[in-house]
Amino acid sequence: MKIAVFSTKPYDQESLDRTNTELNSQLEFEYFDTRLTPQTAFLAKGCQAVCVFVNDQVDKKTLEILASQGVKLVTLRCTGFNNVDLVAAKQLGIKVTRVTYYSPYSVAEFTVGLMLMLNRKLYRAYNRVRDDNFSLDGLLGFDFHGKTVGIVGTGKIGTIVGEIMVGFGCHLLGYDKYENDDFKNLKNSSYVTLPELLNKSDVISLHCPLFPETKYLINPTTIGQMKPGAMLINTSRGALIDTKAAIEGIKAGQIGCLGIDVYEQEDELFFEDLSGTIIQDDVFQLLQSFPNVVITSHQAFFTREALADISNATIENIMDFAAGKPLTHEVSAK
Ligand code: NAD
Repeated sequence: MKIAVFSTKPYDQESLDRTNTELNSQLEFEYFDTRLTPQTAFLAKGCQAVCVFVNDQVDKKTLEILASQGVKLVTLRCTGFNNVDLVAAKQLGIKVTRVTYYSPYSVAEFTVGLMLMLNRKLYRAYNRVRDDNFSLDGLLGFDFHGKTVGIVGTGKIGTIVGEIMVGFGCHLLGYDKYENDDFKNLKNSSYVTLPELLNKSDVISLHCPLFPETKYLINPTTIGQMKPGAMLINTSRGALIDTKAAIEGIKAGQIGCLGIDVYEQEDELFFEDLSGTIIQDDVFQLLQSFPNVVITSHQAFFTREALADISNATIENIMDFAAGKPLTHEVSAK
């Protein structure tokens, strides 16, 4: 079976090829470094499946082109599927699968890394010492011990973040549509409403998926409900935060510091070396000019373990599809 792999980086190719050999699955991957968009969908000609990542544009137009070329499967090598028009896929008879599980430790550990980096200003300290500036002015942080961490979305990643923060001696507040026993069983944890979580947390960490109902979960109203000066972390999906509202919150001091691994307009920026170009996104440029903001380029998942899990799950999804087996990791419109 032939699969067009979009948004391919060298590490994706290496990982998929290694797993393909290890599992002897004999899949024929055709790699493209370009994103999948309506303009690039023609590249999948002759393939029965396309393999995509977080910023590929799997909208109705793209899906129509893919369907007209005989593509029957879109397989995501990520957990989130907010970039796929599931209704259009269903109408066109295209199945969609995703990776439902890969090392949640990858993202959870990175999230805690962002918290530590922001709190103790490690990014500033690193640059200072390289410049022979050994002053501590402006580097004052706080003890996490005894502080309250609010976790929005207490699934796999959110619960592990909670578990790690319990190790620091933090209290945990959780908000989720569905309560999770693993989170409930953590020491010093309780479920509360979103306004209460926002109001009482020193650190707020977002771990729920991006759905229409969670878009701009962090907006002028909810920022107003936050404890003044709270730390806000987002390693989930960019559009959970209304970025312009966050900028106003930072200017007003309501958001004490912000750490994001995801950004609502990231598809124009992330995963590419744009160091020699003029960035046209003024919102992004303003955001990254603040000394209390740390931005990383959607790298929380990027560990050896997670990449191996992703390749295994992706190949398993394709093999199940090829064999006509039920698709355990299918996502579809209701
Ligand atoms: P998960 O499905 O285990 O957990 C998500 C949780 O969010 C669930 O408990 C669910 O009930 C909850 N939820 C759903 N709707 C909600 C709502 N309206 N309000 C509050 N909670 C709600 O997923 P996970 O594996 O923990 O991943 C969480 C998110 O992390 C993913 O959706 C994905 O967007 C993001 N992610 C980011 C990276 C990265 O590299 N930065 C990597 C993997 C995943």
